[in-house]
Amino acid sequence: MNRSSIDWHARAAAATFDGRAFINGERCASASGDTFACQSPIDGRTLTQVARGQAADVDAAVAAARAAFEDGRWARKSPAARKRTLLAFAEKILAAKEELALLETLDMGKPIGASLGADVAGAARCIAWYAEAVDKIYDEVAPTPHTGLALITREPMGVIGAIVPWNYPMLMASWKLGPALAAGNSVVLKPSEKSPLTALRLAELALAAGLPPGVFNVVPGYGHEAGEALALHMDVDAVGFTGSTRVGRKMLEYAGRSNLKRVYNELGGKSAFIVFPDFDDLDRCAKAVAGSIFYNQGESCNAPSRLFVHESIADDFAKRVSAEAAHYQPGDPLDATSPMGALVDETQLRTVLGYIDAGRSEGAQALVGGRQARAETGGYYVEPTVFTGVRNDMRIAREEIFGPVLSVIPFKTEAEAVAMANDSSYGLQASVWTHHVDRAHRVARALRAGTVHVNQYDEDDITVPFGGYKQSGNGRDKSLHAFDKYTELKTTWLRINPA
Ligand code: NAD
Repeated sequence: MNRSSIDWHARAAAATFDGRAFINGERCASASGDTFACQSPIDGRTLTQVARGQAADVDAAVAAARAAFEDGRWARKSPAARKRTLLAFAEKILAAKEELALLETLDMGKPIGASLGADVAGAARCIAWYAEAVDKIYDEVAPTPHTGLALITREPMGVIGAIVPWNYPMLMASWKLGPALAAGNSVVLKPSEKSPLTALRLAELALAAGLPPGVFNVVPGYGHEAGEALALHMDVDAVGFTGSTRVGRKMLEYAGRSNLKRVYNELGGKSAFIVFPDFDDLDRCAKAVAGSIFYNQGESCNAPSRLFVHESIADDFAKRVSAEAAHYQPGDPLDATSPMGALVDETQLRTVLGYIDAGRSEGAQALVGGRQARAETGGYYVEPTVFTGVRNDMRIAREEIFGPVLSVIPFKTEAEAVAMANDSSYGLQASVWTHHVDRAHRVARALRAGTVHVNQYDEDDITVPFGGYKQSGNGRDKSLHAFDKYTELKTTWLRINPA
């Protein structure tokens, strides 16, 4: 069915929700019986109650995951067999795409078109890609002296704790699940308390696809309860964390206070977008800026929230970007044509409006936007906002806002642009726009960021690593490199006696 012909409001009205945890292949209430309210940011209504997982629930999930790992029901299946099951899982995701997209949009407020076309599709592709990869990876034989044979093999680690945020709930979960499950691990997933619904449904779909019980468990709950218990657990071998830098620090502490589990942090960003005056298609460039900073309501770790423009074109370019911003007015997330939806909750709305106030009081000017929108809906919407007159030391240029707010900062020279771009505690992504080939390479090399784009911003694929320098984290999701996070390297020496 054509997505624009679907009556999403009717589907939302008819939707049912199951907020129970998923442990050892079964839905269950939390051990305490406690729940928390899951609210939709579209209109503030309560969708359902969700199990409030705490230490006892995490213990049960980790025990199930450990038992599944130790008896080899998944870990000792052949890579080809794991591939078949995970491909079936990806097919189940696609078969349930409209249901999953609706859950994602109701739960976290992004437009239904994006949930369907990007989030569900991306999650299925991720799972299928790691499934396809896992029976094509060979281990190594070391070039040792002829008296011995040394095999270097990869083994699954055991139990992986995956703790993920709310901005791309399904996609962030699948970036952990794909490589972790394909490599043979068991997983306990802790979704954000702000967006738990799709993770729970994914676990049911995986079971239906043939993933044995206990291999993939989901414990919803708050960070300081379920999240902390999982990250502190003595029987969890690694934590794949995506979230804020503030909580990423805690992940390292939890590991130090417990079993020194591996911690892979995928954290925040304050990405730089640099435009040189020789770039000849400023309209395409302005479209790319707006499409990247306002996509997902600006709630993207890699959103290019700092726009550095050469002073000779800065005023003109800010106007072009502002004209593009007009196409991103927040609309009804259940309307398939809406370009921007609701922020995830009232706290996030207050945070974003607080940064807009901070920008104004530090002397920046909102060329467009700067206000709450659609307040009459009961939901949490903010206009696309472009600030000019920004200095790189203002709060709006230093701190991650995680909303549709862009700071335009003029520069005089290439060296100054690079210095300001790198003058950030983050280093997730960056972009440079120029037709000068030496400059493009020079600047791309000088930028301290995990991904650098030249003359584009949003190109992306599961085949390339994604992660940050500096306080944007230490891990890399996606690509074959992600297997490094969820496997141990073992060396096995064999003696070969002379004849
Ligand atoms: P967050 O750090 O508040 O929460 C992330 C997860 O950690 C949630 O599941 C939360 O419940 C849990 N958590 C919170 N406190 C915890 C604690 N004390 N112990 C254990 N777990 C805890 O982040 P968020 O607001 O959900 O997400 C937004 C952040 O995620 C932004 O900073 C964004 O840049 C980042 N992010 C990074 C990437 C990336 O790949 N680098 C991708 C998406 C989002």
